[in-house]
Amino acid sequence: MLRQGLLWLSQQNRVFQFIRSNPLARSFASRFVAGETIEQGVAAAEELRTHGIGTSLDLLGESVTQASEATAARDEYLFMLDRLAAGAADVNVSVKLTQMGLDIDEDLCGRNMLEIVERARAHGGFVRLDMESSAYTQRTLEFFYQRLYPTHAAHCGVVIQSALRRSEADIDELIDRKARVRLCKGAYLEPPAVAFADKADVDRNYVLLMERLLLKGNYPGIATHDEAIISQARRFAQLHDVPSARFEFQMLYGVRRDLQGALRDAGYNMRVYVPFGTQWYPYLMRRLAERPANIAFMMGNIMRESVSRR
Ligand SMILES: Cc1cc2nc3c(=O)[nH]c(=O)nc-3n(C[C@H](O)[C@H](O)[C@H](O)COP(=O)(O)OP(=O)(O)OC[C@H]3O[C@@H](n4cnc5c(N)ncnc54)[C@H](O)[C@@H]3O)c2cc1C
Repeated sequence: MLRQGLLWLSQQNRVFQFIRSNPLARSFASRFVAGETIEQGVAAAEELRTHGIGTSLDLLGESVTQASEATAARDEYLFMLDRLAAGAADVNVSVKLTQMGLDIDEDLCGRNMLEIVERARAHGGFVRLDMESSAYTQRTLEFFYQRLYPTHAAHCGVVIQSALRRSEADIDELIDRKARVRLCKGAYLEPPAVAFADKADVDRNYVLLMERLLLKGNYPGIATHDEAIISQARRFAQLHDVPSARFEFQMLYGVRRDLQGALRDAGYNMRVYVPFGTQWYPYLMRRLAERPANIAFMMGNIMRESVSRR
């Protein structure tokens, strides 16, 4: 119930305007978001690199309604890629197709994405298409198969969500095509017709898809903070002689930093998804929805700070 309420709130722009002007909420957001500017995002990625952790940089923003907004977001990505290549962090970014204009004009989105992937390729980098709600799954995969994968297979990949019933078939197709996949549970509120309603089923499906990717996938990204699943990945890889160089673990900026360090120390490739930008509200609400204890943490901070100001 609470999760549904938070996910609903994540789509309310007027609430965002209110929250963004609140310095305490902004300070809480800084736990999960590297900052509002490219320089802050790149600095966070470079800092993680010095600790032996890779990154994928994400300019927050989704569902633009004007072509000019999509083009501006594309230009920021191009600048980010150049900036990453000139510095010490991985040239690796994550992009949402709706931010590049998918809902305005698919050809516009196609041109924007090709420019981004070509620039990443010129720097030896990689572009991940984030997966949005199930309304976009088919379109995102078709876009990937038709517009990017044929010419840039080694420099782009997609995301599959274990929450969706269709994902098993999608994983099999992606494995057949040797495409690179990030596997996550899924962060969106979905109707039961397309998604598992029970978290235990989402987790079970995650393990099923993960094991298939570990055996036959092309350098999969195991994106989760779930310790039981991570332990299972490690056991499974050992049992089936899958070398640790053949996959990577991925986590979100600011979440389970202890586990990120432990996996790195154990010799696994570890990548952190580093979001930044002014449009941090829907992202923050999805993180709160995943772990309502974060709300208590946020409220505690707000109360402590307001008491100390009196
Ligand atoms: C690198 C990366 C990329 C992602 N990309 C996408 C994407 O493209 N599309 C998409 O729909 N989703 C994406 N997600 C989000 C994902 O779908 C989940 O919503 C999110 O990762 C939480 O699920 P979990 O696997 O960690 O498991 P859960 O079962 O939700 O959590 C397991 C444990 O992890 C810890 N934890 C999880 N979330 C938090 C949090 N916010 N704060 C503190 N602790 C937490 C808690 O200890 C929790 O008990 C991505 C996640 C990662 C790590």
